[in-house]
Amino acid sequence: MPVRKIVTFGHPTLHQAALPVREIDQEIVQLARDMVLTMHAAPGIGLAAPQVAAGKRLITVDLSVGEKPEELIVLINPEFMETDGEAVSEEGCLSVPGVHENVRRPARVLVKGIDLEGKERVIEGSGILARVFCHELDHLEGRLFIDHLSPLKKALVKKKLKKPKEIGRGE
Ligand SMILES: [Zn+2]
Repeated sequence: MPVRKIVTFGHPTLHQAALPVREIDQEIVQLARDMVLTMHAAPGIGLAAPQVAAGKRLITVDLSVGEKPEELIVLINPEFMETDGEAVSEEGCLSVPGVHENVRRPARVLVKGIDLEGKERVIEGSGILARVFCHELDHLEGRLFIDHLSPLKKALVKKKLKKPKEIGRGE
């Protein structure tokens, strides 16, 4: 089953920091491959390992959602080298279904990580790409985008998430 189950708000791996990847072994390669398939199937433009219940520092990003293979980014142990500016835009998350809220993020980021071949990669992102990197790196720290909201707004969102799912919601 290459497409893995995406866990949602309340699952422990979403709320704790992920561990660094020490070795690119078969398990990590398989996890990365499954994450790409899971992200494309969702569909989504980014996924972090904690979202498939794996507490590892690994993210996948693809703004083209499978349309352009050259846009696929798989990064192991990603970290920020630089962040600049500010931008506010609406965000959602496959692990927080049905919720979309404005979040303030850096407008530009420089991210460093390792690819599946073990090579260091430095990627600059602005606009949506910067936002996705920030969102996915947050996941590796056990932070969700709703953790950036005001306490009042966050309480309202949590209340909504605790409600039993309505029948035929289609999400
Ligand atoms: Zn997310």
